[in-house]
Amino acid sequence: MASFENPIKHQVYLSLPEDMYSPLAPRRVESPSLLALNKALLDEYGLSSNWFEDAKGIHFLAGNGDYDGESPVAMAYAGHQFGHYSPLLGDGRAHMLGQLQNADGAFIDVQLKGSGRTPYSRGGDGRATVGAVVREYLISEAMAGLGIPTTRTLAILGTGESVMRDYQMVPGGIQVRTGTSHIRVGSFQYAYATMGKDGVQALADHLIEHHFAEVASHEDKYPALLEAVAVRQAQLISKWMLVGFIHGVMNTDNMSLVGETIDFGPCAFMDEFKAKKVFSSIDRDGRYAWDQQANIGYWNLSRFAETLLPLFADDSDEAVKIAEDKLQTYIVTFQELFQKGLMTKLAITANSKEADAFVNQALPTLESERIDFTLFFDALTRVANGEEETELLSLFDNQEKGQVWISEWNSLKDDSESALKAMREANPALIARNHQVEKAIEDAMERNDFALFQRLAEALKTPYTVSEENRDLQTPPAPEERVLRTFCGT
Ligand code: AMP
Ligand code: MG
Repeated sequence: MASFENPIKHQVYLSLPEDMYSPLAPRRVESPSLLALNKALLDEYGLSSNWFEDAKGIHFLAGNGDYDGESPVAMAYAGHQFGHYSPLLGDGRAHMLGQLQNADGAFIDVQLKGSGRTPYSRGGDGRATVGAVVREYLISEAMAGLGIPTTRTLAILGTGESVMRDYQMVPGGIQVRTGTSHIRVGSFQYAYATMGKDGVQALADHLIEHHFAEVASHEDKYPALLEAVAVRQAQLISKWMLVGFIHGVMNTDNMSLVGETIDFGPCAFMDEFKAKKVFSSIDRDGRYAWDQQANIGYWNLSRFAETLLPLFADDSDEAVKIAEDKLQTYIVTFQELFQKGLMTKLAITANSKEADAFVNQALPTLESERIDFTLFFDALTRVANGEEETELLSLFDNQEKGQVWISEWNSLKDDSESALKAMREANPALIARNHQVEKAIEDAMERNDFALFQRLAEALKTPYTVSEENRDLQTPPAPEERVLRTFCGT
């Protein structure tokens, strides 16, 4: 491909029913600047960075492009927010520019977030802050580094304009987000409510054609779609939980049907392990706490399944039975993956009663001993590979209890090369620590200083190894650095 050419040449969403989107160009901005370009991601896609770094590319991504012929759209969706149904949410500050094609020929959505008001903005200003886009860049790229399916951040831009947040003017930003799809559970809820069976069928056929080819030839393709979506969701949520990630706003409009992490709001990785941990300032009841995420996945999938019922069978009892059966796969898959993942983290492969009891007690022990989740599994991995136990032991509040735990673990762990390799791959040494992310945001917002952002972005690409100069990034927050609440920071 000629490298100075705009690679965003498709718009697959135009084939959906018209109710599902509104064509419109992003808002023009004063003086856009490219704050960061994710060249590693462009490499993954097999694209050169030239066009993106060219003034024309920057203006296109900031909303100042010539969109004639291209078709940016804002997408419509509904959603349950904290359990309450909103019939119309939609992209209130996002524009789907279209799709590029990666080296494999697959379509990749390119969406701007923070690009102006749309018919779905309700009271909102359609903007995002530099802080919010820095946060999403770091966390989405950290997820990718961990091998967890996620939307990505191709670039972040400054708009050169100010945005009002919490009675203060702060710099505005735009995130260039990419992803396999932006169809959400909430998209189906919207299609169901506005168009009924036909709308749902159009969306389901789109998903199958573009993202679930494996069910296309299935005799009962819609129940098969539900099952395939459920399996991907079980895979995703088990992966989140096994690295201590808390999404924070698992509303049905924030659940992507292709099983990628999407809509990073007040999300965070835990420091000290606490099963009921919540960061979000708006999640007062702990609906989206770390240990609730699997249940919420089921709840959201149930809302998805409800929209599909008319496609399952004419008889509603029969349709419900089919849905329940398919959703069962989610429960079984999640439990299996989570349990297996935890065993891998501990390098335990034995299937004895004793091993089961030990594995089941591992996280409660971390909690009662107030141990940092990531440091613990990293230290454990290093001990499994022959390092001294001193550091691992020092993580326990109660040293005696620590001694007992470690010796029991020593007697149960599998020392085979394959178990140790899997253990290393399950236990990152580096996560995007909330206090460091907040510091990077503060530096960027208040001093236009992107040094820590750049450093974190680079280090989080390879979270299973830490270089000597990045050792400090492993450090949990000191008491005064702890971020107790993460605000939506939009
Ligand atoms: P979120 O919590 O980011 O998933 O957003 C929930 C809904 O609010 C979505 O429909 C967003 O498009 C919309 N929204 C969030 N922030 C803004 C904003 N600043 N302006 C307009 N709409 C917004
Ligand atoms: Mg959202």
